[in-house]
Amino acid sequence: MSLATVYSRALDGLAAAPVTVEVHLANGLPSFTVVGLADTEVKEARERVRAALQNSGLSFPANKRITVNLAPADLPKEGGRFDLPMALGLLAANGQIDAARLARFECAGELSLAGEVRAVRGALAMALALRQDGGERELLLPEASAAEAALVDGLVVRQARHLLDVVAALQPDGEALPRAAALTRAAACGQPDLADIKGQAGPKRALEIAAAGGHSLLLVGPPGTGKSMLARRLSALLPALDDEAALESAAVLSLAGQFDIARWGQRPLRSPHHSASSVALVGGGSPPRPGEISLAQHGVLFLDELPEFPRAALEALREPLETGRILISRAARQAEFPARFQLVAAMNPCPCGHLGSPLKACRCSPDQVSRYLWGSKVRAPLSKLLRQLLQSWRLQPPRDAWTDFTGSCQRC
Ligand SMILES: [Zn+2]
Repeated sequence: MSLATVYSRALDGLAAAPVTVEVHLANGLPSFTVVGLADTEVKEARERVRAALQNSGLSFPANKRITVNLAPADLPKEGGRFDLPMALGLLAANGQIDAARLARFECAGELSLAGEVRAVRGALAMALALRQDGGERELLLPEASAAEAALVDGLVVRQARHLLDVVAALQPDGEALPRAAALTRAAACGQPDLADIKGQAGPKRALEIAAAGGHSLLLVGPPGTGKSMLARRLSALLPALDDEAALESAAVLSLAGQFDIARWGQRPLRSPHHSASSVALVGGGSPPRPGEISLAQHGVLFLDELPEFPRAALEALREPLETGRILISRAARQAEFPARFQLVAAMNPCPCGHLGSPLKACRCSPDQVSRYLWGSKVRAPLSKLLRQLLQSWRLQPPRDAWTDFTGSCQRC
């Protein structure tokens, strides 16, 4: 047979849409063509597949006209995840492995030139999508990615280290590949806890209330008062994640290649630096990737030095804070990512940080303070809080800023 079909999946936001990899060998001028909206990385697979087959001692049909079609053709495909399906398709079309056995699998994996099977992003999203579609096939994944896919109940996940292992298992009388073992959940202990902090009764109580009610929290205070230390302990106060929520949170991290199996079941804590762009914060790019708000799914997003964040980045937080999701639209595609996180922010009360401090005098002029607070990007939802703070310190912002803050919007 000179035509083979292999099943795989492309990442499309958190959804992993089915992709059929068709490989056709024909007589004619020798060539190797990949069609079906493949990006550069996928097209480079030709070189990796050729080298992996040759270095593994398998025969590469170099004198044939090879066409690989990734269907559906309108779905963008990226990354090295189609290396393994392409190699297996070539081998099946060439009669070196059993096509009927191959049809029982959905597979993904990047190949090294020596034929090792390397990890892919989004293995968990792939497993979740397969289960949602009925889960008839088994999953065949690189060893480094199989453990996270095995977290999804009701699926058979097989793992492979080398292309030759897969080829051996896909012979008519081959022995099945080993199953990936599902991991038990990491204990929540080891996370920083409020018990480590002496004193600070007020902020501790605020954290407890925020944890109980799922409220956002802004910590304002001079440098060195423990704002970051307190904020990092919020996730330990939150109740344990149930399995579905833990899977959802892990799946987003796995999409970005940042899922650590040792932290399975723990709530994520993301603390992007204030130089983060709005794309890094809310997600974006082409193809769309999740941002920090989605990577903090069911966990805590900690923004230290809040006024230093670019205004566009803070504005972009508003919608996901209300809806718990973010829809990223690009000319060609849309992708939706979950973004249900608890926001904890910290800031200094003024540029030097010592406004209102009984220990050290503030060196800032009233003008600098007002620009820092009112001219900054910290907008309406925080305005009441800031006003109360200033009143408690017997400070008055300039008149025009005051009206800008208390009245309706002055610009639009
Ligand atoms: Zn100051």
